[in-house]
Amino acid sequence: MITEKTALYIHVPFCEHICHYCDFCHFRYSDDLAKRWLEAFRKEFFTKVGFKARTIYLGGGTPTALSSELLAEFLNIVDNAYSDGIEYTVEINPETFDRTKAELLKAHHVNRASIGLISADDGELSLLGRRHLFVDVKRTVDLLNEVGIDNYSLDILYSFPTQTLTSFKNTLHRALSLKPKHFSLYSLTIEENTLFYKKGIKPFDEDTEAEYYETAYDFFESHGYKQYEVSNFALSGYESKHNLIYWRYEDFLGLSLSASSKIKNRRFDNTRDLNAYIKGEYLQDEIILDKKDSEFEMIMMGMRLNEGVDLRAFKRRYGEDLKEVYKKTLLRLLSDGSVRIEDDHLICNNLEILNTILVEFMDQDSK
Ligand code: SF4
Repeated sequence: MITEKTALYIHVPFCEHICHYCDFCHFRYSDDLAKRWLEAFRKEFFTKVGFKARTIYLGGGTPTALSSELLAEFLNIVDNAYSDGIEYTVEINPETFDRTKAELLKAHHVNRASIGLISADDGELSLLGRRHLFVDVKRTVDLLNEVGIDNYSLDILYSFPTQTLTSFKNTLHRALSLKPKHFSLYSLTIEENTLFYKKGIKPFDEDTEAEYYETAYDFFESHGYKQYEVSNFALSGYESKHNLIYWRYEDFLGLSLSASSKIKNRRFDNTRDLNAYIKGEYLQDEIILDKKDSEFEMIMMGMRLNEGVDLRAFKRRYGEDLKEVYKKTLLRLLSDGSVRIEDDHLICNNLEILNTILVEFMDQDSK
């Protein structure tokens, strides 16, 4: 049982349909399976959650794939971790959203939504195996606004076949017309176990991907959405508090299938096997991070942020000065202008070469 106030993530492992590119842990929704999952989840929740959460994030899969009755039961359980004023996010697939579910979310204090818009082109959505149209995203946004949830983020995907720069720009404009507070931008990665992988579909080459990324970057920034993480852009004050906890390498508890947790120097990965989960065998793996691995992970996560790695937090956590631990690497990266130190934060000057910079940190023997 964890009693310290922690960020809480819960994975709902069901989708009404499976998208052609998706490798998240998901199962085709059935009421019977979802009921059995919910009973196992109830047990896991009350075994582990002895705190009021710093933030709550319900992801998946698709939380809104649950029937209204099961969604209500599920939200009743999660209410036990809620306290006034926290950020409470739910991922929504427009395919499985209606007024009853919107009202349920509002009644259970949800105050932020992350909506899978993906593309505003109905032909592209169909190619990706999405069963909704752009008009359904608009209807989702209208319902959220009507019940009073006006803080929503839109997910946008690029680098898939048939997409053109013109259709991408059109998606950006149509997405903007929905007045979100936040955008998350993803490039397609082809994972095994997906239909795209089996069909041999390839994403764009690196240069083309960079062109799309820069197009989106310029578009968001010119409309007041500031980049605060490699793939995330927000109006001022609407950055995702929950995801910032991950990137600042603070503790979080993940519940249900495939969810990960980080509590102090331990990482836990839950099983992806639904039958095992239903039997109460939640955990698949537990790793104790040694100091060096943990320090590197904190740098790897923090450097994704425009604010960078908080050097004071690093010192508090490890009792060492990052500038000393990574002295040789830092000297090199500071002198070639790849990174800078500002207000006690180590900041990457060019996020497009972040991976190269991280390799330098990884390769240095500490001290
Ligand atoms: S992309 Fe989302 S809705 Fe589609 S299969 Fe994956 S988790 Fe389900």
